[in-house]
Amino acid sequence: MNSKQYITMEDTYGAHNYHPLDVVICKAQGVWVEDVDGKRYMDFLAAYSAVNQGHCHPRIIAALKDQCDRLTLTSRAFRNDQWPLLAKEATELFGYEMILPMNTGAEAVETALKAIRRWGYDIKGIPTDKAEIIVCGNNFHGRTITIVSFSTEPDYKRGFGPLTPGFVVVPYGDVDALRKAINPNTAAFLVEPIQGEGGVDVPPSGYLKTCWDICRKNNVLFVADEIQSGLGRTGKMFACDHESVKPDMVIIGKALSGGTVPVSAVLASRTILGVFKPGDHGSTYGGAPLGCRVARESLKVLIEEKMIERSAELGDYLMRQLQTIDSPHVEFYRGKGLWIGIVLKQSAGGARRFCEALMREGILCKETHVNIIRLAPPLCITQEELDWAIARLRTVLTSI
Ligand SMILES: *Cc1c(COP(=O)(O)O)cnc(C)c1O
Repeated sequence: MNSKQYITMEDTYGAHNYHPLDVVICKAQGVWVEDVDGKRYMDFLAAYSAVNQGHCHPRIIAALKDQCDRLTLTSRAFRNDQWPLLAKEATELFGYEMILPMNTGAEAVETALKAIRRWGYDIKGIPTDKAEIIVCGNNFHGRTITIVSFSTEPDYKRGFGPLTPGFVVVPYGDVDALRKAINPNTAAFLVEPIQGEGGVDVPPSGYLKTCWDICRKNNVLFVADEIQSGLGRTGKMFACDHESVKPDMVIIGKALSGGTVPVSAVLASRTILGVFKPGDHGSTYGGAPLGCRVARESLKVLIEEKMIERSAELGDYLMRQLQTIDSPHVEFYRGKGLWIGIVLKQSAGGARRFCEALMREGILCKETHVNIIRLAPPLCITQEELDWAIARLRTVLTSI
């Protein structure tokens, strides 16, 4: 079958909850993907940062295959030999006392919300059902009913009510708004250190640090959603590390399993995650030996292949090169590490047509928020490959 036939089949039988670029990928390695018609592209989205380590990383795939031959799933009704190893290795690596494993990012966010609320009642002493959680405008934390309940994007929530109460929205980047929103019933402040779906929106320098201070003074948990910003994407392990902020709780996912099987997790202290007792929370696949084995290898690859350092160095290089492109369409560039948003002018006619032009040039990336092109290649990219991409970005940004 050719691309057209696959696309027709998908559109006929599959629900239309996405608007993908019309490229049908059938294999990939590192930064390169290939479509069913044999055309090669450089991946500049990296599955929303889930393949930070690169597509089909040989070490991660070897671990996956080896584990497949041994044991894939026990459920948490029994113990397995991989979950304890991931728990120990991840908590030591990230500097937290405990970890709770789930599968998708949204599930880990839901887990954090449950932990926050119960901490609010059992530890902080908030009256029953009065806990409030402060979130930011333009947030993206996933797609469950509760999570979209506190989204500020009307499309994400329209027709999905009744929505979950208990959330207060403050503008992203505004410390005074956070200060004013806190009251004795506030249990936590949930924030993305850089907003990914919000268009690689980097808050003002010092924002995270000040918010962290405000939270500590008020006995409010500072909870960072690092599902997209974490695990090296910004040139540090966590984006919060840029301001030496140590959140009370960190939520991770995406690159935790290097683009293989969904693995997510919540990291926190013994006091916070200790609010869960047997039966309070769980997931059939959470902590599965297959996912844990793959996550262990994915973290090792990230560290041993110096991908975090690469993200910092090559990200700086990419940003400097982009800034030499004299395009009539670009308002400005923003980002950290190998994570850059190209914010286009209103007159540019939207980012979608630029992404389609880049696709014709052999680069795959995706627009966010109508007028922002997001660049997020796998962190294994080389400088030569970056130069190849920069030449094409230059062509598209100057010739359209
Ligand atoms: C992708 C993402 C999520 C949701 O993760 P899923 O695995 O798609 O459920 C949550 N928060 C942030 C910041 C994300 O980028």
